[in-house]
Amino acid sequence: MSAKLCITICIVAFIALLGVAAAENVIDEVVNTAMKELPFEKGNQNILIMANTGYARGSEIYLDEFLSKVSELGLSTSKNVIFVHNSYNKPLWFAFFDRSTGDCIYIEVKDGKISKQAKENIAANNLLSNPEDWDAKMKSKVFDGNEFSIMTIANVWARGMPWELQKSAEFHNHICPGLTSGYLIAQYLKKELPLESGKEYQILAVPPWCKDDTLQMIFDSTVGKRKMVVKTLSKEQTNALPDNMKNIAGIYIRWDRNKGEGQGIILTFDWNKVCKEAGINRSDFKDFKSYKWWYARLKLDLWMMDYLDKPEYLISKVKEFEIDSNTLNKLKTAGVDPLIELGIIEEKLSKTEEKTVEEKKSPFPFEVTIAGFAIAAVICSMLKRRD
Ligand SMILES: [Zn+2]
Repeated sequence: MSAKLCITICIVAFIALLGVAAAENVIDEVVNTAMKELPFEKGNQNILIMANTGYARGSEIYLDEFLSKVSELGLSTSKNVIFVHNSYNKPLWFAFFDRSTGDCIYIEVKDGKISKQAKENIAANNLLSNPEDWDAKMKSKVFDGNEFSIMTIANVWARGMPWELQKSAEFHNHICPGLTSGYLIAQYLKKELPLESGKEYQILAVPPWCKDDTLQMIFDSTVGKRKMVVKTLSKEQTNALPDNMKNIAGIYIRWDRNKGEGQGIILTFDWNKVCKEAGINRSDFKDFKSYKWWYARLKLDLWMMDYLDKPEYLISKVKEFEIDSNTLNKLKTAGVDPLIELGIIEEKLSKTEEKTVEEKKSPFPFEVTIAGFAIAAVICSMLKRRD
């Protein structure tokens, strides 16, 4: 081996060792800070650690050390840790929450060092009884914009969330009533349209909301695998729905790939009932100027926990049908309205709307109109010259 090659190998090995050591140091620093400031002792099962390690760019180097630290603390990687899905361009963060006090310490890491840290009490009772105080902290981004993620996941976890909801919360990176409604729909489907082996759900998310992340997670009916097709509803389409379908949640098909046939159901989710019984105005969800948008969501997150095993209390089956592969493909195709195909909305109505829109438009595109004027001007000038 040449001396040059030997030196190169030594340098590479040294850099790799430095990287591992840096990862160990920063994870040690993060955990020690949390243990001191929260505070907590090893083996305290009231602790939940939320982190976006493995999603934030380059943060995979901390994973091994982080996981061994969790087991060193006597905590479970499935019960006491939630890896919160984030986009790659988010900073790396950790949040340690103590269920017994509601205290939470947020720690951000940049360039291998702690770059931000903050401690707040995020117990649901505290936030819901002083919403204005917490709203001011949310606006100041006390947890660097991750407040809603952290406070909803922590408080639902504190109440004991089922594993499938936890996996969905990881993917969706927060818990909202929409996500929980997806968990309820999943439980309803398991009872009403159970998947025998070899079958799958083909889902038409019409209209989509947070629920569809839960359904992708639980059933692997993902958009990429073309087991879920997403179509939003226009105001006109929603208005045209019959009264018993105004709260439509989606079209769910138990599909047998081998036989090329399936059974479908259309489900509704009763948001009016949820809001009425939990004492929330539906309009509060869209009030992003005040605290109401997060207050309504957090309150319902907790209210819905009591109905996780009673999906039929909030979900109704409004239509059942048999379906073959031609029809399924048609329903999924762009430009096709599945509500018309399934006879929910009348085609006539939809055609009339299209016509009204067309009538409003000029019969000629802008470019044609301009060209027309130009030709007319040329002819006029030619005629003038002849005169
Ligand atoms: Zn959501």
